[in-house]
Amino acid sequence: MTITKPAQEQAFSQKASPEMNLAPLGAPLIQKADSNLLGALPPPQPLPAGTAVGLLEEDEGDFELRQQVAEALLGEICWDSPSLGHAECPGASKHTTEGGGPARIHIDGAANVHCFHQSCSAVVEEFNRELRRKIWQAEAGGPIGTHTVMTPAILARQAKRREVDALRPMWEQWFMGVVSAPLNPHDLFRNSPTDLNDRTTDDRFDLLRLFHPADLIWTGEVHQSTARNFAEAGNLIRERRVRTHFVSTATFKPGTTRRTKENVLHRRFMVVESDELSLPQQAALLWALRTEWQLAAVVYSGGKSLHGWFRWQDAWNTQEAQLELKARLETYHCDTAGLKASQPFRLPGVLRPDTLKMQSLIYLNLNHSHERR
Ligand SMILES: [Zn+2]
Repeated sequence: MTITKPAQEQAFSQKASPEMNLAPLGAPLIQKADSNLLGALPPPQPLPAGTAVGLLEEDEGDFELRQQVAEALLGEICWDSPSLGHAECPGASKHTTEGGGPARIHIDGAANVHCFHQSCSAVVEEFNRELRRKIWQAEAGGPIGTHTVMTPAILARQAKRREVDALRPMWEQWFMGVVSAPLNPHDLFRNSPTDLNDRTTDDRFDLLRLFHPADLIWTGEVHQSTARNFAEAGNLIRERRVRTHFVSTATFKPGTTRRTKENVLHRRFMVVESDELSLPQQAALLWALRTEWQLAAVVYSGGKSLHGWFRWQDAWNTQEAQLELKARLETYHCDTAGLKASQPFRLPGVLRPDTLKMQSLIYLNLNHSHERR
């Protein structure tokens, strides 16, 4: 079977091909780091420095606030976990049968109360709309309820939300300037600090060199999670034994057998990617962000995305910093999944089965690896 690849893909997967030396169609060329294209852009705002160190998944930092909103509406709630609890049904007066147990409430994602009874469903539905509306208001800085205890953590988070909302127009303006000058992805390749135009190297192990050799990382297919999926980066490189399509951006605790956020030891990279922007727009965005964040690698997904691997910064370990990062990624039309600690990403150097294109490494800066620290 012969697979015909588009010219652009061919260039990514056959790096020594002469096409790589041809100028891209009308796209600006970046030959030097101090290109005029970048010089014309306003500098992105620096992130505030953080102090506390912790791991945070999306929304997790809001649970305290959301619990209070739910309790203000529903009365006493027994919390089985930070986001899951049980309480008396808001439509209990409509119940026509006994039993069935208390109503369940979850406050992650779209908050929801679920009751076993059918007779209360109209009341419960109305209650759920009100619950989500109040959560939305509270997260936007509005009042929660008369008996709510505004802890310093909640107040700080509300203040941060207001600050982030005020910054959005500036980020938007910066972003529009960046994507109005798209960049041919080949220019990232040409400007890679590590020369990738070499058939003797292997993208898989080049990317893994960004980790510390002793880092326990996960490689596998998305749903695989056994002890065999965890190995030290240095061993994987030495033994050349990666055969899978995905890799973690974080490291895991010794003895880990499951890829969960609880098992994450250190964040190593944040991956910035977009399903909405064109490849040249994504290239321009990653190139511009590299003036503020440390761009360690760019991986072509074999589909419609470039994945920018930015070295994780200690200052990003606070809830406030991650709230700001999330808002910025949203403003840049990027996926916020790259903020999740245990999220897997495509490993370069292997053929993507659904598109039959190579997942490829097109930019590598080993100065931002964790090997040196
Ligand atoms: Zn009910």
